[in-house]
Amino acid sequence: MSPDNLDRDRSLIRLTDHSVSELKGIGKKILTALGDLGINNVYDLVTHYPRTYRDSSRSTRIANLQEGVETTVFALVTKVDLVRLSGRRTMVNVELSDETGSIRCSFFNQPWRARQLQVDCEVYVAGKPTKYKNWLSLSNPVVDIIGRPGSRRTGRVVAIYPQSEKAGITTWDFEGWISEALRRTGKVSDPVPGEFLADYHLVDRTYALHNIHSPANMKAVYLAKTRLIFDEMLRLQLCLLERKAELEKSNTGITHLSRVASRAPSPDNRARVGEIPVVCDLVGRLVETLDFSMTGAQVRAIDEIAQDMARPYPMHRLVQGDVGSGKTLVALCAMLIAAQGGHQGAILVPTEILAEQHYRATRNLVKEFSMPDSNTLTGERPFRVELLTSSTPQASRKKILSDLAGGYVDALVGTHSLLSDEVRFQSLGIVVVDEQHRFGVNQRDTLRTRRSDGKIPDLLVMTATPIPRTVAMTVFGDLDVSVIDEMPPGRVPIETAWLALEEEPAWERVRDEVSKGNQAYVVCPLVGPSGAIEARAAQEEYHRLTNGPLGGLSIGLVHGQMGARDKEASMEAFRSGEVSVLVSTTVIEVGVDVPAATVIVIEDAWRFGIAQLHQLRGRVGRGGGQSWCYLLGDPAQKPGQSAKRTQDVRGKDRISIEDLGLEFLQDDLSKAGARLMALCKSNDGFLLAEEDLKIRGEGTITGSSQAGKGSLKLGSVIRDKHLVQLARECAREMIEQGYKVQDDPELSAEISYLIGDSRAGYLLKG
Ligand code: ADP
Ligand code: MG
Repeated sequence: MSPDNLDRDRSLIRLTDHSVSELKGIGKKILTALGDLGINNVYDLVTHYPRTYRDSSRSTRIANLQEGVETTVFALVTKVDLVRLSGRRTMVNVELSDETGSIRCSFFNQPWRARQLQVDCEVYVAGKPTKYKNWLSLSNPVVDIIGRPGSRRTGRVVAIYPQSEKAGITTWDFEGWISEALRRTGKVSDPVPGEFLADYHLVDRTYALHNIHSPANMKAVYLAKTRLIFDEMLRLQLCLLERKAELEKSNTGITHLSRVASRAPSPDNRARVGEIPVVCDLVGRLVETLDFSMTGAQVRAIDEIAQDMARPYPMHRLVQGDVGSGKTLVALCAMLIAAQGGHQGAILVPTEILAEQHYRATRNLVKEFSMPDSNTLTGERPFRVELLTSSTPQASRKKILSDLAGGYVDALVGTHSLLSDEVRFQSLGIVVVDEQHRFGVNQRDTLRTRRSDGKIPDLLVMTATPIPRTVAMTVFGDLDVSVIDEMPPGRVPIETAWLALEEEPAWERVRDEVSKGNQAYVVCPLVGPSGAIEARAAQEEYHRLTNGPLGGLSIGLVHGQMGARDKEASMEAFRSGEVSVLVSTTVIEVGVDVPAATVIVIEDAWRFGIAQLHQLRGRVGRGGGQSWCYLLGDPAQKPGQSAKRTQDVRGKDRISIEDLGLEFLQDDLSKAGARLMALCKSNDGFLLAEEDLKIRGEGTITGSSQAGKGSLKLGSVIRDKHLVQLARECAREMIEQGYKVQDDPELSAEISYLIGDSRAGYLLKG
């Protein structure tokens, strides 16, 4: 750092070249303490932002304090006494004064307060005054120390920094170092062109930096914060959009043969046969095969996918649709578009049960389709779908793999087994990832490197978890999003009841529905960390129900510890109707589709999160008639069983929705009731996700969404939606005007420092 602002308009990021030891009063010990806080250089220091602010004009004058009314007081310490009481107890009495009067604070058993609070310190204290012998006093108030003894600050608004008790660094230490650093830095250059700042009503960088630390008033704090968050978002968006623009210029994708429908969806938004996007012959045939018509939302999604697939660069699209909205069909259409041009498709799903189900459904829908084949007499062969899981017998596995490599398999459905190196395609054209939150980014991208010609297959990810657009835009490396916001017609909202204390009404409903030829699920809770314990609990419940409340009905059992064949046999018995009630663990959680199932009973429902309960409930209500969901159990009755529950995710390198906190982890019991009530009130996954956020607070979402060590210090992709949008617009305009990050030494240095090269690489992946 220059001694006094010699070079004008230095770039902010150059402050990383200066160690904080260049500042006055920072010796070895403090250097280490700051290092522990992640502050090594002057840049780190000036981006160590205040935790909060105190506005002295808003605090109460001592003369106006009222007994029993919670208040904040800004005052000077005028007297400190440490009193030793009997035993080892202590009391620190502190007198605070302002120009209107004095008040006493007492701290019990906190002798260190005598060192912390020195005469002539300026402090904020907050608490409820009580009356003691005509004196108002505060006992054990919350204290923020603002100014060192004798500092007599003049500004109204005071920044409070995250402090380090242990290292003994106070908020005024930070204030001192930062103001010295800012003074010596002087004006910093602004990477955002002036006309953008004017258009977007943003303050310049120098103003922002100074006013986040020593603001004239709260409005200045707001303006400063807005600008700094904007910068955080801009850096991400520039990376993402630039990469996207590069991809779009490249020819790294496969240009699929789809005819994109040019007409708008029908006015009443319901597609009828004939209005379906006949984006290719195979999709046209599929439409004829269906005994229902697609929803307008499905048509729109297929249209968007077809357009993406017809382009010469890889598709990167997320299909978001509530449980039961018909995402599978949309995925199948994408596979057919690929197949039309002779390319293969892969569907990656999280569980064997789901793989089996997708495999059957797909095979069934395309059973009469044929593909050109010059080796046969007719010049055709049947369309071929195969299933690959860890339970596929060795011999069939070998055959499937060799036919896949030879190009005789058109669609491959499977679990993590698809990710094995042996799985070679002749020409992989599209990868579909179902229930995408179960997979890590690396797993998802593994398949996309499977082409020998260096081209990148299209990617379609499907999820029932509503992800805010801003998150999809930032965290998932700029996925385009199609939303299926319409349910197939005739779906009746599932009636949901929370039976806290008695379960008989649920069993009565089960018996009743079974007598009408319908079916039911009974979901057993997760009782421990191990699948074996869970399986045993399901077995016990199976016996209890068979010999008790559901005696006489035909009951099946499925859990994660069963072999694949047994699992499939159980599912098949249920699907065919041979078994009317299926007792299961959460293995049925995602995707399972049995339309005759009209009741689901979820035991100890409070152990599950909202998202998971909504997924489970989505197993019923698929047939068109009325369905029921019963949530059993009362969290309050089972204290001591509040063991933390985590999702069974196999992915190692997962950056998933769970990491964002959107997927529910079991938390404290008091919130459990609120979750169950939310489920009873709503059938709408998007609404529930919002409710979920309210119950848990936003903090949980942003926590780990941080892309890189310091890239989102102030901003939150959820809370600051509008700034994400604004930054994106700004980045788009800059790029359109020929801006390139690599030609901008300042921003590219910021990006590599804050986002980190590897992390930037991750963000840009795909
Ligand atoms: P999800 O979006 O949860 O994956 P699925 O794709 O499993 O939903 O679809 C749920 C059920 O709805 C399936 O039985 C499917 O055949 C049926 N379905 C899909 N689209 C329609 C439609 N347009 N009209 C009627 N039923 C549909
Ligand atoms: Mg599904």
